[in-house]
Amino acid sequence: MTPIYLDYAATTPIDPEVREAMLPYLKSCFGNPSSSHQFGQQALEGVENARRMVAELIGAVPGEIVFTSGGTESNNTAIKSVCFTEQKKGSHIVTTAFEHHAVLCPCRFMEKNGFHVTYLPVGSDGVVDPEDVHRALTEKTILISIMHANNEIGTVQPLKEIGKLAKEKGILFHTDAVQTVGHIDLNVRDLNLDFLSLSAHKLYGPKGVGALFIREGVPFEPLLHGGGHERGRRSSTHNVPGIVGLGKAAEMAKAGLSEESDHVRMLRDRLWQVLQSSISGIHLNGSRKYRLPNNLNISIEHVEGESLHMNLDMEGIAVSTGSACASESGLPSHVLRALGLIPELARGSLRITFGKYTTNTEIKTVEEKLPRIVKRFRDMAAF
Ligand SMILES: *Cc1c(COP(=O)(O)O)cnc(C)c1O
Repeated sequence: MTPIYLDYAATTPIDPEVREAMLPYLKSCFGNPSSSHQFGQQALEGVENARRMVAELIGAVPGEIVFTSGGTESNNTAIKSVCFTEQKKGSHIVTTAFEHHAVLCPCRFMEKNGFHVTYLPVGSDGVVDPEDVHRALTEKTILISIMHANNEIGTVQPLKEIGKLAKEKGILFHTDAVQTVGHIDLNVRDLNLDFLSLSAHKLYGPKGVGALFIREGVPFEPLLHGGGHERGRRSSTHNVPGIVGLGKAAEMAKAGLSEESDHVRMLRDRLWQVLQSSISGIHLNGSRKYRLPNNLNISIEHVEGESLHMNLDMEGIAVSTGSACASESGLPSHVLRALGLIPELARGSLRITFGKYTTNTEIKTVEEKLPRIVKRFRDMAAF
């Protein structure tokens, strides 16, 4: 039995073409891009080519892209940089209650250091109301940080309206776009962004590498000081194979974006239709309309998500009960709590996320097995 992977929001497999592009940089092209001899220059070429690809994917210019170790570092860098550079103007940050921990935790850290953070509530549909953002702003607000799409429920936020607001008020605007870059159309200018975080391993690239978009002219203070790499914006010798992999992944994402989203949307919509007709008391968490095409987050009445997850795993189907981080605490996730989901339903939640390698046959298997597992649990409970 070949296992079925339906957890693309946690991480994606590396595309074979991405792996091929990386290999020379794990072999003969081992130079340090900071060296001026030919070994260094060869590596530098790989890095700069990747920078162009990443910039192109999000509508930026190459000079605005800084390579990092991933989404977490990019988020930390953006938030802490704004706190340093804007502290004379104010000390207030506006974010949401359902951000990834890589935004929530640096915000909490800054609170311990004298900053004030508003964690906006989200509607029961998992979408932030730009009016709420507007009302939260004060004279002292220096940063708005709102994710593009939520990693658990896949809801897409109205960044265009929020970006307009930020620009009008002269407030810096950051988004964690780790779940959207390479998956839906996105342009940093259209959204009026000053900072954007992305990560390679969510778009068929390698783990441990990502990027931060920093708009030209925006004040910036690095997180890592040292040898002055990345024009002083992120010191440490480049992860050359990783960066090359990210560049290739970005290039491929741009070319395959609409095809992939049609493919996953078709599979997702069909699975949802089948599950709705075969399982009673099943609910979709988060807006149907403002949603990533590859995300299905469901709650099933009177069945624990954790037990479903385990039983699916035994049958070779890998899904998630929420975000990988939340599953460890045993608590219903902060995202589902932020939506105001009653604990019973929050505990019954299951996240199924699709990708470009997901096949019809795999989804057919889930369509067969999931209702059977649910029925088994319910029969046992009734007894
Ligand atoms: C995965 C993820 C991150 C963390 O990215 P890493 O590269 O794993 O550090 C941050 N934000 C969101 C929304 C994510 O899905």
